[in-house]
Amino acid sequence: MSRAARALIDELADRQALNRQDLLALLAARTEDTAAYLFERARAVRHAVYGRDIYVRGLIEYTNHCSGDCYYCGIRRSNGQAERYRLSPAQVLQCCAQGYALGLRTFVLQGGEDIYYTDERMEALVRAIKTAHPDCAVTLSVGERSREAYAAWRQAGADRYLLRHETANATHYGKLHPPSQTLANRLRCLHDLKDLGYQVGCGFMVGSPYQTHECLADDLLFIRRFEPHMVGIGPFIPHRQTPFAREPAGSLGMTLYLLGIVRLLLPGVLLPATTALGTIDPLGREKGVLAGANVVMPNLSPADVREKYMLYDNKLCTGDEAAQAHEQLQRRMQRIGYRLVVSRGDYIGGPACAHGVGSGGA
Ligand code: SAM
Repeated sequence: MSRAARALIDELADRQALNRQDLLALLAARTEDTAAYLFERARAVRHAVYGRDIYVRGLIEYTNHCSGDCYYCGIRRSNGQAERYRLSPAQVLQCCAQGYALGLRTFVLQGGEDIYYTDERMEALVRAIKTAHPDCAVTLSVGERSREAYAAWRQAGADRYLLRHETANATHYGKLHPPSQTLANRLRCLHDLKDLGYQVGCGFMVGSPYQTHECLADDLLFIRRFEPHMVGIGPFIPHRQTPFAREPAGSLGMTLYLLGIVRLLLPGVLLPATTALGTIDPLGREKGVLAGANVVMPNLSPADVREKYMLYDNKLCTGDEAAQAHEQLQRRMQRIGYRLVVSRGDYIGGPACAHGVGSGGA
């Protein structure tokens, strides 16, 4: 590792910030040694804030109907070959009950932009989950809606919202989406959500078509400025029935490197080791945790719909029952020195929580 790269990582860890030029230099400096040092610093920060606890979220992929047409996504409106499904509110509640019995205390409802689930139906669903499980957090990841809808869902008890910004570079955004979907509206949603008191997650895919280091620097600067509570980062993986079918997947190494950088930028951030990471490498989620991630999101959806929520080819989806998968995840985390905890797993602190975080050491 060059001395310059080490100095950049030290500066990032000490100040929780780097300017654009330095971020570009850090992205260009990625080697095995540089990454190993970055991960060591990221783990130290993560241990100081969250210890060796891994927060678990039960992911419920409740619908793959989508009115959006993102060029990268397998459930986009224009994919006439996608086999569509939607879980009923009763089925969603069943998934939650099953997750609760396993010790999960956060449920993430994720889906396409499904017009069946109107603002009112979503509100009723959130209320029903919170009534059944008042000690649990509900995270929504259901795309772009009005401020009024977000406000009503928050009132109904929704705690968190995941809405990846996808790319903070407007030109790049235009290459990944049709003209009707704009970065401006995505950002409007994120700001509304934060303003309404949600714990908010943004994020992006690594290696999406047309992405450059400049785009990634824009993403990192945006994340630092916006200060989300959560950041979802996973590799882009092509889907054969999309316009990006022939594009290469994002790299494992670069995804891990970005997880490490984000941990140093925002020490208290909730950072999942994503399903996409587990899809491109059998040990992807473990590697994500060792790079600074502290959240995993096992799938609670009924086994027979999992393979229909196919955002990209070969998406990791075992036919395992939720209980079996949970046990396996627990073992995998224990093997690398971490443990799944029974907790809502709320966000701890902003950049200030980095005070007293020592250097080096894992
Ligand atoms: N509709 C909601 C939204 O837009 O936020 C949530 C569902 S959307 C399918 C969830 C995330 O999947 C997106 O934010 C995107 O980053 C990711 N995704 C979609 N297609 C992907 C692909 N081909 N490879 C990797 N991630 C993908």
